[in-house]
Amino acid sequence: MSDGLITKVGKAVRFGSVVAKMDLEATSRPYTGHQDWCLWYAKGSCGVCMKRCPVDAITEAGHDKPKCFDYIRNVTTPYVRDHYGTGATPCGLCQVKIPCESRSPL
Ligand code: SF4
Ligand code: SF4
Repeated sequence: MSDGLITKVGKAVRFGSVVAKMDLEATSRPYTGHQDWCLWYAKGSCGVCMKRCPVDAITEAGHDKPKCFDYIRNVTTPYVRDHYGTGATPCGLCQVKIPCESRSPL
C-alpha cells in the first residue's frame, strides 16, 4: 500500500546487487505481483502504514509520491542537513512499526 516491497524478511531492508559472470538457476517467485503480501490488497485489512505517515501521503488510493517527495525534500532533508550535517533524505516511517516490517504478514 505504501509502495515498499514486502519481502520474506519484510520491507525495512536494504538491497544490493552483485554483477558476476556465471550461470545460476533462477529463484522461483512465491508471488505473482508486488502487492500479494500486503494485507490491504490480500484481505482488505491492516492499513497501518497509512496511520504512520505524518503527511497523509498514503491513503486508500495508494501512495501519493509527489506528497511524499515534497515532505522528504523540503522538511526532513533540510532538518538533518541543518542539525546533523548529512546529505541524507530520511523518513520511511511507513516502513517500520507495521505488520510487514520484518516479515510477510500473511
Ligand atoms: S502496513 Fe499493512 S497495509 Fe501497509 S503495506 Fe504493510 S501490510 Fe500493507
Ligand atoms: S516515506 Fe514518510 S512521507 Fe513518504 S509515505 Fe512513508 S511515511 Fe509518508
